[in-house]
Amino acid sequence: MLFYIQKVRAILRGRLVIDGLHEVSENMGIVVDGGTILHVGKYAEIARHAGSLPVYNFDGILCPGLINAHTHLELSLFSKESFSHKDFVEWVIRLVESRSSASSSETHLECLKAKREVEKRGTSYFVNVGNDYDMNVSLGKNQLFQFEQIGINGSYADKILGHASSLIEGQYGVDTSLAVHAPYSVSTELMRGIKAFNNSRGTITSIHLAETADEVEFTRSGKGRMADLLNHSVGKWNFTVPGLSPVQYVDSLGVLDEKALCAHCVFVDDEDVRILKDRRSTVAVCIRSNLELSGEKPPLEKFRRNGIRILIGTDSKASSPDIDMFSEIAAFYDEFHDLFTPSEIISLATADAADFLGIGDHYGRIAAGLNNSIVYVPFDGNTEEASEFLVSEASGKTEAVEI
Ligand SMILES: [Zn+2]
Repeated sequence: MLFYIQKVRAILRGRLVIDGLHEVSENMGIVVDGGTILHVGKYAEIARHAGSLPVYNFDGILCPGLINAHTHLELSLFSKESFSHKDFVEWVIRLVESRSSASSSETHLECLKAKREVEKRGTSYFVNVGNDYDMNVSLGKNQLFQFEQIGINGSYADKILGHASSLIEGQYGVDTSLAVHAPYSVSTELMRGIKAFNNSRGTITSIHLAETADEVEFTRSGKGRMADLLNHSVGKWNFTVPGLSPVQYVDSLGVLDEKALCAHCVFVDDEDVRILKDRRSTVAVCIRSNLELSGEKPPLEKFRRNGIRILIGTDSKASSPDIDMFSEIAAFYDEFHDLFTPSEIISLATADAADFLGIGDHYGRIAAGLNNSIVYVPFDGNTEEASEFLVSEASGKTEAVEI
């Protein structure tokens, strides 16, 4: 649902306001003008200064819109039930087959619908990884489109890179950069080229990393299910076996730094954790997808202890029940409530994500000067219960406030 504010200037009066930075405040007023927050403060004070403005009352929680740090909007046509499989390679093969037989107009329509649906429920920004350039760019704003490249044969790297970079360089409407699919599907030449292109523009590089045990086997030995996948999908391929873990391998190519956004990182050892820490790389955790595809969880306790930045993503509908961030943070809380307080989880999905992505002036907080993306959650409990409610029971009840 959507809560429409009809007036350009108005006061939103929230019984409880969560600012995205661990604070829950009572009886607050937020003055909005068009898309921008002018003031935030105690309602009594706000009303004294801006008394003539219309007031919209929210008898519950107002919080910032959530940021999805890893998803694939272009897979919104699918449901995980169609591919449900514990064998990752089998899942990939079925997904690729289904994609090639899906009609592009139907795919486009489902992606638009899926994005709009979760925006109405309060996801305000997406790190959207995908291969279909035109379709993803046409999904419009509120996304960093990560134009994902695949190609295990190094001899094609220049051609792939030339095509991809020319598309991005001619694009001005949507934030876009290149993404590496995964260590087992992208050649060293292409990986280096993608990273160099993004570095020249100062942009984020997403990569699926250490998602399955098969991936670890492949970079260590060149064998196993990932080799089967390449035999099935590429036919003739070459890969110089690095004999390293996936994290060590991509680090040796210069992929990991403070602009790297590593999705999953489930199958990592202590040396990998040290590398992620030293490179100041960020991990996007997609717990529902991991449990679906491998049954394993990333070692978040180690990540936390080492100060590795953690963000939260849904992954796609091909491996997750939905792409609603409120459902995702509920699953995250369910799995990791021993490690994170509810307000910390809200920060991961709001202010922390916005800061990492460099979009903190528009998203991730409720504060003066920001373009607003505010979510309303009906709630009759008290201040102490608000954050926990948001990360455990709010899913399905949230409404974006649109002005
Ligand atoms: Zn993914």
